[in-house]
Amino acid sequence: MMSSAGEDNNKDLILAVDDTPANLHLLTGILLASGYGVRMAEDGTSALAQARSMPFDLILLDIQLPDIDGFEVCRQLKADPQTRDTPVIFISAFSDTENVLRGFDLGGVDYITKPFQLKEVLARVANHLTIVRQRKQIVALREQDRQRYEMLDQMKNRFIQMATHDLRNPLNIILGYAVMLETAECTENDLEFVHEAAGEIQKSTEKMRGLVADMLDLARMEARANLQLTSVDLIQFLARCLKGFYPIANQKQLELILCPPAEDVIVLIDEGRFERVIDNLVSNAIKYTPAGGLIEVNAFPNQDHVEIKVKDTGLGIPEEDLPRLFEAFFRVNTPEHQKIEGTGLGLSIVKAIAEQHGGKVLVESESGMGSTFTVILPLIPLA
Ligand code: ADP
Repeated sequence: MMSSAGEDNNKDLILAVDDTPANLHLLTGILLASGYGVRMAEDGTSALAQARSMPFDLILLDIQLPDIDGFEVCRQLKADPQTRDTPVIFISAFSDTENVLRGFDLGGVDYITKPFQLKEVLARVANHLTIVRQRKQIVALREQDRQRYEMLDQMKNRFIQMATHDLRNPLNIILGYAVMLETAECTENDLEFVHEAAGEIQKSTEKMRGLVADMLDLARMEARANLQLTSVDLIQFLARCLKGFYPIANQKQLELILCPPAEDVIVLIDEGRFERVIDNLVSNAIKYTPAGGLIEVNAFPNQDHVEIKVKDTGLGIPEEDLPRLFEAFFRVNTPEHQKIEGTGLGLSIVKAIAEQHGGKVLVESESGMGSTFTVILPLIPLA
């Protein structure tokens, strides 16, 4: 076995096979000078042994060899899964069509006849190496796609599982009450039960309606291309978003305040969609903050982004739950949190919308001390 020294891993590696030392050294010299890594073999057995011992990017194969001929070497290379994909270029003194066609039949990608022009050999080598590189890229991209689809499929299955679970519970409650109502006799005694049943059916229906609305919201998040971006004064926008929340906060004895920054901030947002971010964060702050608490909405502009903060003095979130908080259907599992109705979809909607706008959402929280949700929104530089 013969080999050339000084190979580096980034170079394309070529196996040159020829039984005439003068030819072999001429070919090898020009390939090395062109920046390729080269290994040499002077017979078929040594060529096969080398091809199986390391991955080559290309094989230049003479047909007339002292032991097994180049056609047989090619046949064996193509029969072995390990070497099957390495392109083989035949180099031969046989220029008749029959031999050329036999070379292609056996899986050769090209056929060069001797005496050859060195420049032509180099051009053909470069061409086939480009094809090899492109094929590897396609294989890598396909594998990436496969992994992505697998992940999306798992997410979809989990989503369906959770959604059906959360829809089935209220459905069973509705069905249970409907069955009982059917047999109720509408006497004075049953009247109280009828009211109770109607109330429970209403509660379950509300729960299902909330879940369906959130699921639809999440499904609409899909395409970023659908964003209807307009320039919006952030503080006016936040004031509009908060308007509907003051009576609810008041009713729960919570103080809700908007703290505007000193300067105007203009953001490029899809107003309708971004409103869902503020809605979800503020309604969570109201839901998870007991009476007497304070909710502050702030905006802090920076050079290239603005931080919108929704801060509350509520239940807070246990540290171990923070990494999963933005997952669809995730809900904190403390008795205080579980007492409060929710779908576990609001924060995944917030995250999806923030990301569609090129931003992100962060949370800082401590159990029992309150939470701060920060939406980071990039500011588009004015031209
Ligand atoms: P949900 O519909 O359950 O409120 P979200 O996705 O909006 O769903 O929130 C996920 C979970 O994160 C909630 O169930 C709640 O436990 C917790 N959470 C969200 N916001 C707050 C907050 N401001 N304070 C305390 N816990 C919160």
